[in-house]
Amino acid sequence: MTEGLNVVVDIRARIGEGPCWDAENELLYWVDIMENQIHIHDAKTNENRTIQADQHVGAVVLRQLGGVALAMEHGFYTMDLQTEQFTFIGDPEADLPGNRFNDGKCDAAGRFWAGTMNYNGVGHTGFLYCLEPNHTIRKVVDGVAISNGLTWSVDHKIMYYIDSVTKQVAAYDYDLSTGGISNRKIVITIPENGGLPDGMTLDAEGMIWIAQWGGYQVSRWNPHTGQQIDSIQLPVSQVSSCTFGGEHMDVLYITTATNGLDSQALLAEPLAGSLFSIKTKVKGVPSYKFGG
Ligand code: CA
Repeated sequence: MTEGLNVVVDIRARIGEGPCWDAENELLYWVDIMENQIHIHDAKTNENRTIQADQHVGAVVLRQLGGVALAMEHGFYTMDLQTEQFTFIGDPEADLPGNRFNDGKCDAAGRFWAGTMNYNGVGHTGFLYCLEPNHTIRKVVDGVAISNGLTWSVDHKIMYYIDSVTKQVAAYDYDLSTGGISNRKIVITIPENGGLPDGMTLDAEGMIWIAQWGGYQVSRWNPHTGQQIDSIQLPVSQVSSCTFGGEHMDVLYITTATNGLDSQALLAEPLAGSLFSIKTKVKGVPSYKFGG
C-alpha cells in the first residue's frame, strides 16, 4: 500500500463512485451506484451520512441553489438534503430501460454532464448528455459503451472524456460559453495490463489523475504528451474514481468497489469498497456546482 494512503470510510461499497468535494462545508459527496446510496463524508467530524434512494445512483453534484443534483437510473433529479426528497428533472432515456446513468460532473458554467451505459456492459448503447441550468437535456455523444470520467483543462478550453472500453482518454475542444465540443482526439492510452480507465480528475498543473478499474491504482498523466508521470498503488483492484478535496485542495479522495470480485478475491482484498485518501504535492481543481 502506498505510504500516506488512508482509509477514510471502511465500508464494502458495491460500486463506490462519483466523489465530489463541497469546499464550503468540507464534505465529500460520493455514491454507491448499485446500493442506491448517496454518501456524505464530513472531513471535520469524520462521520459518513448515508441517504437511501429508490434507484441506482450514477453521479451526485452540488447545486448552486442548495442541495444536490443527481444522474440516476431513471434520469436527472435534484434532492433536498434536509428532507431527502427527490424531484424529477427529466429522463432522456425513458425508452432505453437497459441503460442506466453512470459517471457525471459539472463544468465551470454550471452544466451537468453525465453519460449512460448498458447494464450488461456490452454494446455501444450509451450516450453522453448535458443537462443545462435551464433543465434542457442535450444528447452530445452517441455510440458510447461505458460512459465514465469527465474533466476540463484549467482554462476550460478542453474537455476530457473516458469511454472505459476504449482504454483511452479523448480530448475535445470545449466552448465554455455554449457547452459545445469539437475536434475529438485521443490523448492518453492505458497500458494493456492496467485495467480500464474509470473516473478522473484534474490538478492545478493540468495533469490528469485516472482511477484504473481492475488496475489497483490511480495514475497521473500529462495529457499534452500522453506520458504517465506518477502512480498511487492501492490494496484493492476495483479503483473507480477520484477527486481533490481537503481544506487546501491537496487531498485526493479515491472511491473503490467490490463489484466483480468473487469470494476469494474479497478475502484477498478486505478493504475493497472503502473510500481512501492521500495527501498530494499538487492541488486539485474545484468541483463545480449545477446552475439550475
Ligand atoms: Ca465510473
